[in-house]
Amino acid sequence: MTALLRFRILACAIGASAGAVSAQINTVQTVVPGVYFHEGDIRRGHSNNGWIVFDDFVLVVEANFPSGARAVLPRIKETTDKPIRFAFNTHHHGDHAYGNQLWADAGATIVANDGVLAEMKTAETGFFGGAPGRWEDAAKKRPDVAESKLKPPTLLFPRELFFDDGKRRVELRWFGVAHTKGDGFVWLPKEKILFTGDACVNGPHNYLADGDVTAWIKTLEAVKRLGAEKVCPGHGPIGGPEIVADQQSYFVELQRRIKARVDARRSPAEVKAALPDVAAELKKIPNIARYVPASLNAHAEKIYREFGGQPFPK
Ligand SMILES: [Zn+2]
Repeated sequence: MTALLRFRILACAIGASAGAVSAQINTVQTVVPGVYFHEGDIRRGHSNNGWIVFDDFVLVVEANFPSGARAVLPRIKETTDKPIRFAFNTHHHGDHAYGNQLWADAGATIVANDGVLAEMKTAETGFFGGAPGRWEDAAKKRPDVAESKLKPPTLLFPRELFFDDGKRRVELRWFGVAHTKGDGFVWLPKEKILFTGDACVNGPHNYLADGDVTAWIKTLEAVKRLGAEKVCPGHGPIGGPEIVADQQSYFVELQRRIKARVDARRSPAEVKAALPDVAAELKKIPNIARYVPASLNAHAEKIYREFGGQPFPK
């Protein structure tokens, strides 16, 4: 349990129970020919991955942790012999970006929204010449991190970056603050396939500490307007447009319940005491029940504090 709690600090995926582990984990799923999805093993802290095959090269979605990168690299090679030229970080968290060095060693340039580099400058103080940061913290607990080194993205885009070889078009897009300040999406307009990173997950995997829930809801509204038909989340199984809608609804419903208590001037202790009831209510809403974590404390406290509330008592 302590390992899990420590893990929460460095990764965005939170404790899936064994029951939530899908049979699709660690298998390559063809979204359409040339576009692949690989659901990572959350028990090892891994994020999902995707890859898109162009005429001359491969673009990989998510760097994963080093051990996750090592697991998925041979799977990519099973689907194509084209070189991996680009690896995209949907955001700066360790389970999405700490594998960067492995992709760089494989010949890839690391790509991200420029907010990812900005977030790294804040979180990865050790790399940028200051006190030990998140990487050093992770390296104490994960041999795969300890044996590697941090490699920030070098190809940065403010709002969008397009790849188009005349047959395949991929748009890397930023729609606003959500799970972090640098959440990038991968959009294939012809095939209507969307890779979301952790701005949208499919299951009880949300990590809110680096996000802003009001902005997140708004960002997901813009994402919904893309009209995606196949959605590949940062964690959890692949699905359809309902994943984006349900993810947004979870935040709307939870935020509404916390806001009502802020408006009623409920104390941090009172709000915390009400959380089992709030969780039970949310679990009764069929399309969002799967997003409700075992404990609502972290989610509720973050939202309560976004409305100006004080920390919850321990
Ligand atoms: Zn994350």
